[in-house]
Amino acid sequence: MDSNGAPRLKLTVITDDACEPRSCRGYGGPLMPSAKATAVFCEDACRSRHWRRARARTEAVKAGVTASCPQCGAVWTVGVDRPVFAVYCSPACRKRAWHTRRAPSGGV
Ligand SMILES: [Zn+2]
Ligand SMILES: [Zn+2]
Repeated sequence: MDSNGAPRLKLTVITDDACEPRSCRGYGGPLMPSAKATAVFCEDACRSRHWRRARARTEAVKAGVTASCPQCGAVWTVGVDRPVFAVYCSPACRKRAWHTRRAPSGGV
């Protein structure tokens, strides 16, 4: 196709790229307009955070450590479905537990 030797400008490709809404792969926020065309993370710190999390996740799967929700009993793999520090399976359970603690059946 290009045997006639005419150099192809890549301008169209760049324009296409700029039209797509790009978001950070780590944080999920929008990338800076100044970000490189190949950038997938908003900043270096975000990139290392992303990879650290990815590695922690892999190790968690290998270790197979599970935790369970004190509110509903749901079980999950620590660091995979939920963060390592998660106590409850969902915000709903955390809220329910908080209400239970705050409103003792005996009354004030
Ligand atoms: Zn980011
Ligand atoms: Zn729960």
